[in-house]
Amino acid sequence: MLELNNVDFSYHNKNIFNGLNFSLQDNKITTIIGPNGSGKSTLFKLLTRSEKAKSGEIKLDGSDIWTIQPRDFAKKVAIVHQQNQLYDEMTVNELIKMGRLPYNSLFENDQTDPEKLNKILNYLEIEPLKNKFVSELSGGQQQRVWLAVALAQEPEYLFLDEPTTYLDLHFQYRFLKLLKKLNRDQGLSICMILHDLNQALQFSDQVVLLNQGEIKKIGQPEEVITKEIISNNFKIDCEVIKTDQGVFLRQY
Ligand code: ADP
Ligand code: MG
Repeated sequence: MLELNNVDFSYHNKNIFNGLNFSLQDNKITTIIGPNGSGKSTLFKLLTRSEKAKSGEIKLDGSDIWTIQPRDFAKKVAIVHQQNQLYDEMTVNELIKMGRLPYNSLFENDQTDPEKLNKILNYLEIEPLKNKFVSELSGGQQQRVWLAVALAQEPEYLFLDEPTTYLDLHFQYRFLKLLKKLNRDQGLSICMILHDLNQALQFSDQVVLLNQGEIKKIGQPEEVITKEIISNNFKIDCEVIKTDQGVFLRQY
């Protein structure tokens, strides 16, 4: 269980969270939505240890995350950032081996069966790309490579900050379906930030609405993505349409 209790956080003098409480549902897909600047990426940074809370605690299975050894933390929690630095001079294979670093001991390289990494590559349909340089790949291929690096860590929790932003529609859906398959097949707990509320409706078990550093609503997708809640928090006019195909949000 990954939870955040009574957390305060600010950047220099800019206050972001005051007494924030949140716990992530295990083995589910949780989507964080909210206007720009509401603190979504900051929440991810706190939960994945790239920023430290000013006060309050963040716990993984009952332990303060900062008391956990970095390599042990990396075996449990992985993140796919919104924009990844480009490691142009590295091949896909070399990059994915980076994901195995937490499993290397001081004197020995990772003893994992190479089959394990091949399985991840096959699962993500990037096996044929493994000797290519990252710079040779399309946006959709790169995104799957970053997911492969995160999966090579064999985490229990996977965070993805706006994973579909740079993908075309074909790859957006392919990527989200893949995440759903990973969640359903392996019980991976997934937490992602999405801007597209129809994708949030379709692919989440739970939706969290963050606005101005506060959780305004948390619940099943259709409880959070309603005409009233979305129009108030995003300052848009919209309606929710129910069809046999599911529930959709239409903005105007
Ligand atoms: P979101 O991901 O919801 O768009 P962020 O968590 O990135 O929001 O940012 C929340 C607020 O914190 C914004 O006002 C943003 O400008 C500010 N902020 C984000 N990162 C930094 C930083 N490194 N230093 C100072 N302010 C920041
Ligand atoms: Mg962000």
